[in-house]
Amino acid sequence: MNNDISVIINKIRPQLIADRRTIHQNPELSFQEFRTMEYICNRLDELGISYRKEIAGTGVLAEVHGKMPGKCLLIRADMDALALDEKNETPYSSQNQGVMHACGHDAHTAILLNTCEVLSSLKERWCGTIKFAFQPGEETTGGAEPMIREGILENPKVDACIALHMDTDLNTGTIRVKEGAMYASPDDFAITIKGKGGHGAEPQNAIDPIVIAAHIITQLQTVVGRNVDPFEEAVVTIGSIHAGHATNIIPDTAELQGTARAFTNEMRNMLSERIQSIVKNTCLAHGADYDYRFVKLFPPLSNNAEIAKGIYESAIRCLGEENCIWGGRPTMAGEDFAYFSQEVPSGIFKLGCRNESRNITAPLHNPYFDIDEASLEHGVAIFTDFALHYLEEPR
Ligand SMILES: [Zn+2]
Ligand SMILES: [Zn+2]
Repeated sequence: MNNDISVIINKIRPQLIADRRTIHQNPELSFQEFRTMEYICNRLDELGISYRKEIAGTGVLAEVHGKMPGKCLLIRADMDALALDEKNETPYSSQNQGVMHACGHDAHTAILLNTCEVLSSLKERWCGTIKFAFQPGEETTGGAEPMIREGILENPKVDACIALHMDTDLNTGTIRVKEGAMYASPDDFAITIKGKGGHGAEPQNAIDPIVIAAHIITQLQTVVGRNVDPFEEAVVTIGSIHAGHATNIIPDTAELQGTARAFTNEMRNMLSERIQSIVKNTCLAHGADYDYRFVKLFPPLSNNAEIAKGIYESAIRCLGEENCIWGGRPTMAGEDFAYFSQEVPSGIFKLGCRNESRNITAPLHNPYFDIDEASLEHGVAIFTDFALHYLEEPR
């Protein structure tokens, strides 16, 4: 690692860990990150860094300027926690029962706060502007899109965005990044089959929505199997089915809900159309009616090749080539950093925080999830190195 970066990191290490622990102990659900927002603002006040708050409700945008005009880089961290009871017993366990930072967003926020501090102390070494976006609501409907709508990519116009996500599949001291698909579009759909209820002994007088639901579920298995190129990826899952309540009554309706995931907008549209066609035509064949809703959540997240390469090179300088993985598989989960990636060249990387010797292995969204805090400074170092290189030249 660049020598002066490591000197600064040695200085901020205690604060970095303290930030993470304070935020971890005080988790808040999506769009309710009021105390988290205040914590961020207080820290920025201490550092004398200017910011705008209450963007998209609880979001914060800090801005730091370099020694002369240049490009504009945005670094983003999400702030929200999950509705989950933490089962870890640590000095910094959640003090807000039923809410837990089980996706590492506490770490993301702490890393960004400290990156902000480091880069503002190195102002003389870079040109242009860095925006630090603390974003609410990633786990639900997403705070990225409303923050963008409130103008965080404008004035000055942002040229590139970067972010990271903690990953307990990767050992501490390692990272993974790639160009292209990183996260899927995690869309939802809901189907109501409208049959005709009746006596279970007289099916001839009814239109049985349960039988129709069974046909639909079976046929939906062909959407990926028969419509998607075997070398591409997609998922259609029915996660919920509700119909009827008695052995001898045919119900009026059956409700199905599911998720459809893809890595391109074209694939996403294809899935939605194929699902609807199967629902429509199966219902038609059986004389039933239907409602169909396809709810587009986050877009697919694709890393820009140049930005991804830049992150990879920074990571190599910070952690050594043997600890940086280029490539690998994308994940079928969603990530609303995708909205940034649709607007400007963007890159997100996975930051390893697994430590088997300390039993830190639980996956994301698990009540035992924790991070090896030694990974925090790797995030700060890579963000800092990337910014110093990306903003090296004046415009
Ligand atoms: Zn999550
Ligand atoms: Zn997350």
